[in-house]
Amino acid sequence: MDFERQRRALAEALASEGLLKSEAVRRAFLKVPRELFVWPGMENEAYADMPLPLGDTGQTISAPHMVVIMLDALMSKPGDKVLEVGSGSGYNAALLAELVAPDGKGEGRVITLERIPDLARFAADNIAKAGYSSVVKVVQCDGTMGYPKGEVDVYDRIIVTAAAPRVPLALKKQLKVNGTMLVPLGSMGYQDLMRIRRITSSRFTEENLGGCVFVPLVGEDGY
Ligand code: SAH
Repeated sequence: MDFERQRRALAEALASEGLLKSEAVRRAFLKVPRELFVWPGMENEAYADMPLPLGDTGQTISAPHMVVIMLDALMSKPGDKVLEVGSGSGYNAALLAELVAPDGKGEGRVITLERIPDLARFAADNIAKAGYSSVVKVVQCDGTMGYPKGEVDVYDRIIVTAAAPRVPLALKKQLKVNGTMLVPLGSMGYQDLMRIRRITSSRFTEENLGGCVFVPLVGEDGY
């Protein structure tokens, strides 16, 4: 299996479908080996454009097209402090690391929160294997409460990779002014991908970027 060739072919396919738009996301996608993040034994499916199960946890690593759509829409940049809710495999967190600290350089950092202890360990192991431990910190907790709990104005970008019934209040408070948050909002079976911007400390704008399907965000301010 020539993973690098498969990775390039998938990047080209996503670009020709108009889904992989920004040069920064393209660079990150070509750099991060997705085969290190799929469940052991599923490496040959790593570059199929579909979500893959994470063992018997009931959770999934999102399909590559959904990952690049979200990263394009998030518009993170080098130096950003980013919060991800829903580490899963750690793959999206590794891509975020390449966006905020290209080649491991600079001040950009990623905090990723995972509710399920086995998956938090899986994500942290994968991130270590791929060489992103100095940029990405995995924390096992209920991400609907934010991190560190109670702190405000912490992040330039927040990305929720699970379906929420409403925007968790703690996450709105942790977004800095001028910051952007992406969150799939809706029922357990279908959501709209919402882009929320904090314009002033009390004013937020919302844009609907289209339909999507994620596993539920389970927690105190979730399902
Ligand atoms: N971003 C992941 C895929 C996420 S799947 C990747 O790149 O592989 C959604 C994940 O969100 C699941 O692992 C699920 O356990 C987690 N999750 C659900 N509710 C959560 C919560 N309240 N806090 C943290 N993680 C949560």
